[in-house]
Amino acid sequence: MIEDQKPSKTPLEALGEFALIKQLTKAAQASLPSTKLGIGDDAAVLSHDGETVVSTDMLVEGVHFDLGYMPLKHLGYKAVVVNLSDIYAMNAQATQVLLSIAVSNRFILEALEELYAGVHLACKTYGVDLVGGDTTSSKQGLQLSVTAIGKVPKKGAVLRSGANENDLLVVSGDLGAAYMGLQVLARENEVFKVNPNHKPDLAPYTYLVERQLKPEARKDIVSLLEVLEVKPTSMIDISDGLSSEVLHLCKQSELGCRVYEEKIPLDPQFISVCEEFKVDSTTIALSGGEDYELLFTIKQEDFDKIKGNPNLSVIGHMTAKGDDANLVTRGNEVIPLKAQGWKAF
Ligand code: ADP
Ligand code: MG
Repeated sequence: MIEDQKPSKTPLEALGEFALIKQLTKAAQASLPSTKLGIGDDAAVLSHDGETVVSTDMLVEGVHFDLGYMPLKHLGYKAVVVNLSDIYAMNAQATQVLLSIAVSNRFILEALEELYAGVHLACKTYGVDLVGGDTTSSKQGLQLSVTAIGKVPKKGAVLRSGANENDLLVVSGDLGAAYMGLQVLARENEVFKVNPNHKPDLAPYTYLVERQLKPEARKDIVSLLEVLEVKPTSMIDISDGLSSEVLHLCKQSELGCRVYEEKIPLDPQFISVCEEFKVDSTTIALSGGEDYELLFTIKQEDFDKIKGNPNLSVIGHMTAKGDDANLVTRGNEVIPLKAQGWKAF
């Protein structure tokens, strides 16, 4: 996905705000029937049946991303995807996004075009319309704010609070890879700073690096559950690490739970890189973050419908109100889950 820099360098002052917005958003076309009016007026006009779900997230340079190893096109893609993930975590279909940017004058037009190439690609991939945003200058660095909108049938939204005792805890995909991808990129970046001629060999780490730089949101899981006729009782997306998200479900559903260490899905490349970095794979899977997988609970009677699906792993079950959220280790020890998730402050 990484493309060569274009030769031209256009300072932002050369354009002015309106020409810049026009240039960046010209590829945005309102294609969904629910987008009555897209970019260009004071506000977009949308029309949804059922209920509308809305979510927003900010990404700040130096806090959430480092342009040293995050190409701008990937950043644009990721900024949209992580917001869509929140919409899918409500069991909703994502429909529109808005993207606001604050940018310092060290950026050139071509760099912002790269960012937007990623944004437009994500919109196309997930079938959502970019319907607005805002453009402003910043004193330092780049800040992005994405708002995602989705739709869900009346009372169809799946909340964090809906789990019941004995429900099964299910997770999509595998965990921890994005975090180790970041460790690999950070290590290569340090080497590069010392020796700019260093050519990193990322071949053994392709899956991990891809999980970090080009995460995907699990739109497919929402569709799969619909096909399987499984309505989760509660759901959340995994952005801050499995532990932290399990604790959110427990707290908001007022239940305890048991997660079985041996059931946590890990990719073989992730396991071998954890060995290389001498870190414990379970610890990383529990607290690494940025997986953007879905964590949800289902009724026991729905187990047969998901059994054997390679995209879904049952990792435990909910227990009674007042119980703790516990991890059962491979050695059969029972230890409390702790939220070691990524903290902004
Ligand atoms: P206003 O002055 O009312 O905020 P703007 O000139 O900022 O209007 O925006 C004009 C149109 O362009 C609006 O539809 C707005 O949503 C859209 N827009 C502005 N900045 C962006 C951006 N960075 N990305 C996408 N759409 C944008
Ligand atoms: Mg504006």
